[in-house]
Amino acid sequence: MPPKTRKVAVMGYRSVGKSSLCIQFVDGQFVDSYDPTIENTFTKKLKVRGQEYGLELVDTAGQDEYSIFPAQYSMNIHGYVLVYSITSEKSFEVAQVIYDKILDMMGKVTVPVVLVGNKNDLHLERVVSTDQGRRLADHWKAVFLETSAKEHEAVSDIFTRAILEIEKAVGNLPSG
Ligand code: GDP
Ligand code: MG
Repeated sequence: MPPKTRKVAVMGYRSVGKSSLCIQFVDGQFVDSYDPTIENTFTKKLKVRGQEYGLELVDTAGQDEYSIFPAQYSMNIHGYVLVYSITSEKSFEVAQVIYDKILDMMGKVTVPVVLVGNKNDLHLERVVSTDQGRRLADHWKAVFLETSAKEHEAVSDIFTRAILEIEKAVGNLPSG
């Protein structure tokens, strides 16, 4: 059977580690400085529950609270990875603004979302607690993960969970 193609947009405030997470996942390496203006689509095959998927990852250049939601991020996108940095309160707020815009744009009550608190290695600089992140994700009925692109912590979980959420939303998997 040919792999199913699923397209996921990675969104969030600037400098939270969107590109680092994508590159860590696709290439297995941590790049220390990646042009923040680059918009890239990465592809990677992965197997989830015995099914082969072709994942298309749209690494966006980043948004802020004033960004108009770009139409290309709502068309043919099956799910969203919303990234903030645990070291930035502002990035946590921006994730909430983006989420509201996604729902508006899609005109839906629920959209497959994985909320990601990245830079989990920077313990001393943490300003957003794990609890805050989890509460927000629960409120959205979304998946919540804390990750480190730098230390390769829970990075592939993001994309496996995104696929599972997407499949759940289209009724291919039992919920729960
Ligand atoms: P983007 O603008 O959201 O795509 O962010 P980048 O991936 O370009 O990362 C912004 C900066 O944060 C870069 O200097 C990265 O090296 C750094 N960075 C990204 N992820 C992590 C992480 O998990 N831990 C640490 N310590 N730094 C990170
Ligand atoms: Mg980037």
